[in-house]
Amino acid sequence: MSYRAWFQCITPECGQTYALEEVVYLCARCGNLLEVRHDLDALRNRSAVSWMRLFDDRYKTGQWPYGSAIWGKKEWVLPEVDNANIVSMYEGGTNLYWTERFGKIIGLRDLWVKQCGNSHTGSFKDLGMTVLVSQVKHMISRGKPIKAVACASTGDTSAALSAYCAAAGIPSIVFLPKDKVSLAQLIQPVSNGAIVLSLDTDFDGCMALVKKITEDQTIYLANSMNSLRVEGQKTIAIEIVQQFDWEVPDTIVIPGGNLGNVSALGAGFEMLEEIGLITRRPRIVVAQAERANPLYQAYKSDWKTFEPITARKTVASAIQIGNPVSVQKAIRILKKYSGIVEQATEDEIANAAALADRCGMFNCPHTGVALAALMKLKERDAIASDERVVVISTAHGLKFSEFKVGYHRGMLEHVTSRHANPPTELPAELDVVKRTIDEKIAGI
Ligand SMILES: *Cc1c(COP(=O)(O)O)cnc(C)c1O
Ligand SMILES: [Zn+2]
Repeated sequence: MSYRAWFQCITPECGQTYALEEVVYLCARCGNLLEVRHDLDALRNRSAVSWMRLFDDRYKTGQWPYGSAIWGKKEWVLPEVDNANIVSMYEGGTNLYWTERFGKIIGLRDLWVKQCGNSHTGSFKDLGMTVLVSQVKHMISRGKPIKAVACASTGDTSAALSAYCAAAGIPSIVFLPKDKVSLAQLIQPVSNGAIVLSLDTDFDGCMALVKKITEDQTIYLANSMNSLRVEGQKTIAIEIVQQFDWEVPDTIVIPGGNLGNVSALGAGFEMLEEIGLITRRPRIVVAQAERANPLYQAYKSDWKTFEPITARKTVASAIQIGNPVSVQKAIRILKKYSGIVEQATEDEIANAAALADRCGMFNCPHTGVALAALMKLKERDAIASDERVVVISTAHGLKFSEFKVGYHRGMLEHVTSRHANPPTELPAELDVVKRTIDEKIAGI
C-alpha cells in the first residue's frame, strides 16, 4: 500500500497544495499557514482495528525506527520518507500516569498527567523535530541545497533542533532572546554545537528575524509555522488514546504559547476520527499565563477578535508569546472541541506547580499553568469530579531549576510561595540534627 502526504493551505477557499519537498512555509498564493494533509482514503483501506494492532505491536519495541512512538505511526506522519533518512532518538512513548494524590486534593478522581518532558531533550518539542529534521535529511539526500536549519525559540525548540541536527550532521542556527531562557535551555544548543545567537529582544523579535534570514531558501525554517513539526506533535493525541486502550478521555488541558501544540493535538484527534479509530471527541482546554494571554482575550470576546499583544515577563518563559503563529489553527480546533481557554497568574502558576511537586511530580512552569487553570475550572464546576482529565506536561522540571530555586527561596516576583521547602542549614551535630528532625516531623 502506498500512502501520500502534502502541504495544503488552510484557507478553505484557497486550498493550494505543495509537495513536502518544497521549501515553503506559508501559502504562496494567499499567505496563510499550511498544514500537512494525508491521503485518507488510502489510510482507510486498512481497518481501524488493524491500525490499532499495528501501532500496539510497534509501541516501544527495539525495531528501528518503529519503536519510536512517532515512527511507529509513520504512515500517518511522514509516509514517504526513506527509513535511511529518519533521524530518531526514540521519541514519544512518555508515561501517562494517574496522579491520584494531587487529583484528590483538587477534587478529581480520574486525573492523569502525560509527561511529554521525559524525552531526549526534556520537552515535547522532540516529537515534531524528529519529523522536520528527517524531512530535511531526506531533501538533502535528494540534492536540495540546504546548508542549515534555523529557529527562533523560547528555549525548548532550539534544544530539540540542535540535538536532532547534531545527530544527523546538519548545521543548526538558533535565535534566542537574551536572558529569557533558562540556563539548561541555553546550554543544550551550545553543547550540541549549534550556532547560538543570543539576541537583545524577545521571542517575537527573534521570530521576525529568523523569518527574514530563512527567505534564503538554503536555510530551512524549523519553527512551528512549518507544519512538519505539527505532524510529529499530533501523535500526542494518538498516543494518549492508545495508552487508554483506545479510549478517549473527557478533557485535555494543554498550555499554549505559539499554539502549535494545541493545533497538533486537535489534528491528531481529527485523524483518529477520520480513519475511524474513535467516535467521540474530548474537550480541549488551553491554559495561558495571564501575562501572555492573547488567546484568552480572544476567547473572552467569543472569538470575535484576535489582537496580538506584547507578552510580559512570566515564569512560564516558553509561552511568553504575544503573537502566536498558529492562532488560526488553534481557534478552529477549539471551536470543534468544545474549547475553553483559562489563564493563570504568576502566583497561581508557581503554587500549582509546587503543590503538584508535593505529590511527587516535578513540574515545569508551563505545566504549572495547565495545573492552575485546571484547578480554577474545577473550582467553578466547569469540570466535573468524575471526568477523565489529562494534563499535558510539556517539559521536564529539571530544565527550569532557576524557577524551582526562586520559588523555594521565596524570590519569584508576584508569587507568595505557599509550599516553599527550603533546606535547613545545621551544624553537623547529632543533638541539633535530632531535635530539628523531631520538630520538622511534628510540623507536617
Ligand atoms: C513550546 C512550549 C510550550 C508551548 O507550545 P506552543 O506550541 O508554542 O503553544 C509549552 N511548554 C513548553 C515547555 C514548551 O517548550
Ligand atoms: Zn492559500
